[in-house]
Amino acid sequence: AKKVVIKIGTTSISNDCGGLNEEFMKHVASQIAYLHSLEKEVILVSSGSIGVGIDLMQLGCKPREIPVRQAAAAVGQNVLMQKWMEAFSTYDLNVAQILLTYDSFTSRLTYLNLRNSISTLLAYGVIPIINENDSTCVHEIEATLGDNDRLSAMVASKMEADLLILLSDIDGLYDKNPKRHKDAVLLKTVSEITPTIESYGGSPSSTKGTGGMRTKIDAAKICNIAGCHMVIANSSIQNAILKIMEGEEIGTLFL
Ligand code: ADP
Repeated sequence: AKKVVIKIGTTSISNDCGGLNEEFMKHVASQIAYLHSLEKEVILVSSGSIGVGIDLMQLGCKPREIPVRQAAAAVGQNVLMQKWMEAFSTYDLNVAQILLTYDSFTSRLTYLNLRNSISTLLAYGVIPIINENDSTCVHEIEATLGDNDRLSAMVASKMEADLLILLSDIDGLYDKNPKRHKDAVLLKTVSEITPTIESYGGSPSSTKGTGGMRTKIDAAKICNIAGCHMVIANSSIQNAILKIMEGEEIGTLFL
């Protein structure tokens, strides 16, 4: 793959009560820096702002109210970017913040501008770091707030990426939620999103994550239409990104 979008889930970037896992961020930056040296184009989609804000504002673990979560996102976003900036500065790489809503893709003019700015950033060797603009987006369903799965798939599709990598706290897509069922089986490859595959997407069991598998399967559908492959893999695997780029079979590959 030449152009890759990498999405870091809430469960991977945050500790239990929202604080950032900085060691992990440094590890991601080192892998991206390596890909950069191979002239790959990398776009990062990073969750985590809500957790950081909740932590800083001392709101306890996971307040549910949408306005509070939106406020927390506004507080946390610049701290999140600051940490990414530090992680990438080790490799002399600049980062750029891009906050998006789904509306960013619906108007052709906005979308063309977006595509131009991301392409220009890539041309200058900058790492674009995208997050959903949680403070302004208006989701009718609370559960989708902070879900970057579909957003990252839209970015991959519109930027004509070859691959989308979703790093999560789970090894990939199982035939049922492995946190609840000991006999769950990991799917290595999914070549078609059938209703059976869709039925595997449950709601997330963690208190931090937001999308669960449902939104990841939705993301796979968006990628599929765009001719982009997608991999769900466990962020705790050492050098997971590089292994996937080298074709090692970790996680679930959606063709
Ligand atoms: P992230 O923040 O990385 O996007 P989520 O918590 O949103 O993570 O989604 C991952 C979680 O989805 C897993 O930890 C697991 O509990 C849950 N899940 C539900 N159904 C499945 C399934 N069929 N296969 C794998 N994970 C599942």
